[in-house]
Amino acid sequence: MDRALARPAAQQPEWPDPEAVRGVRAVLERVAPVVSAEEVDRLRARLAAVASGTAFLLQGGDCAETFAATTEQSIAGTVDTLHRMAASLESASGLPVVTVGRLAGQYAKPRSFPTDASGLPTYRGDIVNGREATAEARVPDPDRMLRAYVNSASAMAVVRALHATGAFDPSGAFFTSHEALLLDYERAMSRVVEGRERGEPKPYDLSAHFLWIGERTRQPGGAHIAFAELLANPIGVKIGPTTTPEQAVAYVERLDPYDEPGRLTLISRMGSAEVRRVLPPIVEKVAASGHTVIWQCDPMHGNTVRSRNGYKTRHFDRVLDEIRGFVEVHRVLGTHPGGLHVEVTGADVTECLGGPGHLTAPDLPHRYTTACDPRLNRAQSLELALLVGEFLRS
Ligand code: PEP
Ligand code: MN
Repeated sequence: MDRALARPAAQQPEWPDPEAVRGVRAVLERVAPVVSAEEVDRLRARLAAVASGTAFLLQGGDCAETFAATTEQSIAGTVDTLHRMAASLESASGLPVVTVGRLAGQYAKPRSFPTDASGLPTYRGDIVNGREATAEARVPDPDRMLRAYVNSASAMAVVRALHATGAFDPSGAFFTSHEALLLDYERAMSRVVEGRERGEPKPYDLSAHFLWIGERTRQPGGAHIAFAELLANPIGVKIGPTTTPEQAVAYVERLDPYDEPGRLTLISRMGSAEVRRVLPPIVEKVAASGHTVIWQCDPMHGNTVRSRNGYKTRHFDRVLDEIRGFVEVHRVLGTHPGGLHVEVTGADVTECLGGPGHLTAPDLPHRYTTACDPRLNRAQSLELALLVGEFLRS
């Protein structure tokens, strides 16, 4: 693992005190994990069905969780929204839905620019620095990794309590995920577990069940892909519109060397204008490689725009259209449109345009509370699931 992590790593903070980082890592290497290796294996088995075309994957939650919003109410709202979306998708498609939250650990964010509009170092998620617009808040603080662990563990406790009451049966199982971005944290949360995965001990990143590598950190020579290669967890890789079919096959060969359905999810985030052009050659070449991956559509990140009044937003219709294009591509090629990856919340926020409330730009300031990207609110999320259910049925 040290060798993998010695490769160049994009999007890491410049910690002011490397000694303090080593101290925090030493603590995290000994804490109780947030999830168990048995649960990770159970998710892999469920994802194998998604890869083979007999189940559907729904993954969603905040773009960036914050410590302040790690509350029972907020977690219950997101979990309930995802379960309702899953129920719609399940009844329309006739396939069981595997539900995975972007929560209990989604605290690190990659950024396009090192400084923000006011010239301050950019906010990189609550696990790194503070969102407040002051120079002090923006200094990376390694103790935040300890707070991220505590908040993840408490969010996971809320998730477990919600499910223990039977409130969500029969679609009761719920798994967690986040972007494996901050390598000091992810490596420290990894545990070598004996006796699984081909009988050899293997590292499991027990900060979540499912980890993905983002669009900005998927460099083939970089540390993130090399780290993901070593893990026993199911892994996702975001692929944007500049991804070539050859690059996609290279990810598949490295991250799924034994062709294990459920191991790798390719999360396409092409934008509604590009998906029908860019995705087909990628799907064809990966299918021809003989590997069975999960094809998942992230209809959010390729459709981000700035509204005329200055808000980062997405239009519901563009989100829906990217999903429609994704399903069409797979229908034509005979592959399984296996899942959705969305930024959603149970709260009645005003961050994305359109949808059932017909939100327009002047509505955005009313309840625009995201710490990073705009999320579909509860009504938009439920409507999206109903409409996607219709494409999957037809
Ligand atoms: C995200 O999922 O919030 C994200 C940053 O996505 P991407 O890596 O696809 O840009
Ligand atoms: Mn995002």
